[in-house]
Amino acid sequence: MNNPTLTLTDASAKIVRRTCPKCNNVRETPDVICPDCGNFLQSVNRIRLIGAFLVIVGFALLGFMIWFALWMLNAVAQTGKSAYHGSPSQTAFIVFVVGLVILISLNAAAAGIWQIVFGRRSKALMITMAILGIGFLAAGFAAFLSK
Ligand SMILES: [Zn+2]
Repeated sequence: MNNPTLTLTDASAKIVRRTCPKCNNVRETPDVICPDCGNFLQSVNRIRLIGAFLVIVGFALLGFMIWFALWMLNAVAQTGKSAYHGSPSQTAFIVFVVGLVILISLNAAAAGIWQIVFGRRSKALMITMAILGIGFLAAGFAAFLSK
């Protein structure tokens, strides 16, 4: 038997729960490729592990942003005495970026919880994450251009 598909399967021939990102089917299989659509299957355990990682990163980021937002509020409230001397438009920009990062961290935590619960990725949350990420990059780019 010199079937290349079999060789590929043999490399990880363990029967584990896998899910197809396209069909969303979950099955116990040694296959690494979806028999229905030909996409690579993802191990449910690995998706849950990544989910746990996303939850930790999401909440850590959220905690840091809340701390930063409180620090900013305090700094803006004490204008003159504090080390912060931003103009109102700079402050508005920082508030916008902080809000964006808070949304990103909440989205990451939500995507992580989804992956732990369902054992697969949420397409909607992945798309939201991509849009928020692009928004964040655009904000960074705008800040870079305005300098
Ligand atoms: Zn499939």
